Amino acid sequence: MIIAIDGPAGSGKSTVSKMVAEKLGILYVDTGAMYRAITLKAVNMHLDLKDADRLIEITKNSDIKLLHDKDKGFSVLLDGKDVSKEIRTPELTNKVKFIAGVPGVREEMVKIQRKIARSGQGAVLEGRDIGTIVFPDADRKIYLNADFKERVKRRHKELVEGGQKIDYAAIKADVDRRDRNDMERKVAPLKKADDAIEIDTTKLTIEETVEKILSCIK
Ligand code: C5P
Repeated sequence: MIIAIDGPAGSGKSTVSKMVAEKLGILYVDTGAMYRAITLKAVNMHLDLKDADRLIEITKNSDIKLLHDKDKGFSVLLDGKDVSKEIRTPELTNKVKFIAGVPGVREEMVKIQRKIARSGQGAVLEGRDIGTIVFPDADRKIYLNADFKERVKRRHKELVEGGQKIDYAAIKADVDRRDRNDMERKVAPLKKADDAIEIDTTKLTIEETVEKILSCIK
């Protein structure tokens, strides 16, 4: 079973996707973490982020693993190193667009994502292009959305809880910029697949959103 969950930043994708995967007993695939990991690698190697050929090359030569440990939770390994924290800083987040905008990088990512998703009993994949590109024939497609203000609030809370000091105005500008970048880029832009079920999570709790998704699946 393949469940595709797409939506903009702060729509609640990550939290609810993990819970849906857990309830169904299938894999959780955070595709955003994969784009973040390659961005981190490119930055650490001091690559020119506009050099598409080099970016494709490092994507092909990288080992990205998404792990789940009952006690430690989810972690992201890049070439054997745990990069779960490093990939979530605001500085890194702002650079992902360079990597996510390269068609050849996305082709490689899609191959890896399909392989991971098919390695178990099924998977919940979350991202921007899951229902449109990665699994256009997914068993269920969900498009999560929420009002801009609410999404900024959630993103702010998430970063503060993760121990990062960042002011509200900066987060607001970041979410706005990221929305536009993701929706307006030429390759695999964020959009609702025609056959996706749209859920507005603005006034819903996490549990209510999970319940809604599960009721669409059963
Ligand atoms: O989901 P997350 O916020 O971690 O994703 C970080 C960035 O990675 C997004 O803003 C987007 O540019 C990119 N991304 C993408 N396609 C995906 C998942 C994420 O382009 N499937």
